[in-house]
Amino acid sequence: MSYNVAIDGPAGAGKSTIAKAVAKELKLVYVDTGAMYRAMALYMLWEQVPLQDTEKVIEKCRQANVTICYENGMQVVQLNGENVNDFLRTEEVGNAASVISPIPEVRTKLVELQKELAANTDCIMDGRDIGTCVLPDARLKIYLTASSKVRAQRRYDELAAKGEQGNLQTIQADIEERDYRDMHREVSPLKQAEDAVLVDTSDMSVDEVISVISEMCRRSREG
Ligand code: C5P
Repeated sequence: MSYNVAIDGPAGAGKSTIAKAVAKELKLVYVDTGAMYRAMALYMLWEQVPLQDTEKVIEKCRQANVTICYENGMQVVQLNGENVNDFLRTEEVGNAASVISPIPEVRTKLVELQKELAANTDCIMDGRDIGTCVLPDARLKIYLTASSKVRAQRRYDELAAKGEQGNLQTIQADIEERDYRDMHREVSPLKQAEDAVLVDTSDMSVDEVISVISEMCRRSREG
């Protein structure tokens, strides 16, 4: 049986940064499930599908083939055979992903792919419903969070590092809106699994979080 770690938490909690680093240290494959929802959202944006039109989104979802493969250890998301990694990490695509992710048809398609991947691979998978729904039997489950203020500041700093000027209040409002949508949807809402360990990173450095979680992984792998 493969060794699986589930990391869930709200937008901007640092899941991908942490999961990527821990995966490297523990020689696990990192699976970013948010990127799959983003690829589906990108397809809707490219096809100019009105995101509120659920019927249309479901119809188009059937035409979108999202797959992932690995190149030099890096996850490559393909949309109908095309590498779309470079288009996924914008606010527009992230927000669109959170609008279409409550649709059961969208989730079923992507969850199937995620389960299949985890069944065959020692991996660390991050998302919103990994511990509660995708990998209920994961060996270790972590719920990674931080206050919305801290998450907004991190996002602001990230943009500044790229030479982009963000507005802190707007970023925080966007984050809170996304949290609300992700936590209150009917299907697989974001919540801490009963057997997940809560890690609040508000007052922790990235290195501290990596070291704490790597240690938890090592212990769970041995135990
Ligand atoms: O993690 P990331 O910001 O890339 O996720 C984008 C959106 O995709 C989330 O806001 C959420 O609505 C959706 N998502 C989800 N389930 C997952 C991963 C992401 O619903 N497992």
